[in-house]
Amino acid sequence: MRVDLHVHTNASDGQYTPSEVVALARAFDLIAITDHDTTDGVAEARAAAAHHGAPLILPGIEISTAEDRGDVHMLGYFVRVDDAGFQDALRGFREARFRRGQMMVEKLARLGVHLEWARVEQIAAGAVGRPHIARAMVEAGYVESVREAFDRYISNDGPAYVARKRLTPEESVDLIHRAGGVAVFAHPALAAGWRDLLKGLVAVGLDGVEVNHPSNDERTRLELRALAAQHSLIMTGGSDFHGPAVKPGNGLGCMAPPEGAVFALRERARRYGDPDV
Ligand code: AMP
Ligand code: ZN
Ligand code: FE
Ligand code: FE
Repeated sequence: MRVDLHVHTNASDGQYTPSEVVALARAFDLIAITDHDTTDGVAEARAAAAHHGAPLILPGIEISTAEDRGDVHMLGYFVRVDDAGFQDALRGFREARFRRGQMMVEKLARLGVHLEWARVEQIAAGAVGRPHIARAMVEAGYVESVREAFDRYISNDGPAYVARKRLTPEESVDLIHRAGGVAVFAHPALAAGWRDLLKGLVAVGLDGVEVNHPSNDERTRLELRALAAQHSLIMTGGSDFHGPAVKPGNGLGCMAPPEGAVFALRERARRYGDPDV
């Protein structure tokens, strides 16, 4: 099985449309579309996959939660994309992203980096994220790469960073469950104090942990495997593909999930509803 369980499209901060991603993934058996705070890419991905005959599309989400500890992201698999309460919550997050994006552009202007907000919106197409601002900065010649934009201006401790209200990691687990999804702690090693965080999440019903991810080194993976066994967590993995203009190191399919991950996720999803895929 060729599988990628962590894929972004331009519904959030990925470079490619869902159709383009599916065209790139034609040789895959299954991909999960896991955009930040939106499921809007799923329908187009499904239509394109139906046209090509592959891959299977697993509906997913990646929710950004409290940011005082770095990037604490919660993946949701088999979420019901037609759940009204879920979509209301996601819409709220996207509105907050929009306002926060505008504030970051204003902050950048005060630092001498002048971007047109309209251009950022154009690049974004969907849920506005920092990578869109970074790409506008590259385009306008202020920085050489998205990476440099983060390093100099918009990383979590950068001078143009703006925080926004988010769910706590624990609340995000609940939101995903209420939408029928399976909650998986994404790239744990990017969060400060992730070991304690993981324990707290297990206590509120976390289902799994992303063991295979480009930002987890081999030592972290070994530790995560042990913790997953200890807490009966499903082990997953994915590339966090965004496209080469956004994350050049994260090639589609570069991180296979452990054997049996997709089956385990689907079995677990039955606990929260009836997975319609
Ligand atoms: P946001 O959701 O707007 O807070 O942006 C967070 C997203 O930016 C992450 O999910 C990554 O896709 C990307 N990102 C975070 N840090 C970096 C970095 N140092 N270089 C490139 N992309 C990054
Ligand atoms: Zn992203
Ligand atoms: Fe993430
Ligand atoms: Fe991601």
